[in-house]
Amino acid sequence: MSFIVAIDGPAGSGKGTVTKEVAKKLNLVNIDTGAMYRCVTLDCLNNNVEPTEIDKINNILDKINIELKIENGNQIIFLNGEDVSEEIRSSKIDNAVAKYAAVKEIRDKITPIQREMGKNDEIIMEGRDIGTVVFPDADVKIFLDCSLEERARRRYKQNIEKGINISYEEVLESIKERHRLETQRTIAPFVKAEDAIVVDSTNMTIEEVVFSIINIINEKRKNIL
Ligand code: C5P
Repeated sequence: MSFIVAIDGPAGSGKGTVTKEVAKKLNLVNIDTGAMYRCVTLDCLNNNVEPTEIDKINNILDKINIELKIENGNQIIFLNGEDVSEEIRSSKIDNAVAKYAAVKEIRDKITPIQREMGKNDEIIMEGRDIGTVVFPDADVKIFLDCSLEERARRRYKQNIEKGINISYEEVLESIKERHRLETQRTIAPFVKAEDAIVVDSTNMTIEEVVFSIINIINEKRKNIL
């Protein structure tokens, strides 16, 4: 039997950290769909393929192999056999990914893979269109919201910790632009599913968000079992 938790939210909402923690605590398989779009973007950039070059994109998609594995509790992402877990988090990918993620051919390839991943397991899948497009019938749908300024602040802090030297204003602009592209695209735009439960993390700690999401999931599970 499958049990599906969909978590959608913008960049910097804490989605990745929170989902990882909830998955660990509730023993759910964690699937980071953003990592898949990041892999396609990296493959395209490595081959100098623009988001408008559909034939070349199709060529890349025919050959691409993306694997998500958990090793010692950490998610490792392999693109065509190579560990790219670090590389796909670079600001180069941050700034390019939304343009590639808006390409129909790319979404048509990635969405069925995500659906397949949720078939026989108890999963928590995070992204932008999980509750609306990938699993519109998910057992639990959460929309993890957060103010733009707080998201930029968090990303800026993360960058400093990683030794990446980008000003707060640049981070804010980049997040704003990504949000614009994601919410305004024609296919699978980033919107809240009507029946999703909103958790606004702006003034919450990671622990509080994790606690709140676990409560929502447990409540739903109780009604299902
Ligand atoms: O979640 P993350 O920031 O890693 O996602 C990277 C990008 O992938 C997003 O900016 C978005 O453009 C795209 N994405 C998407 N649909 C998803 C997950 C991510 O379009 N389900």
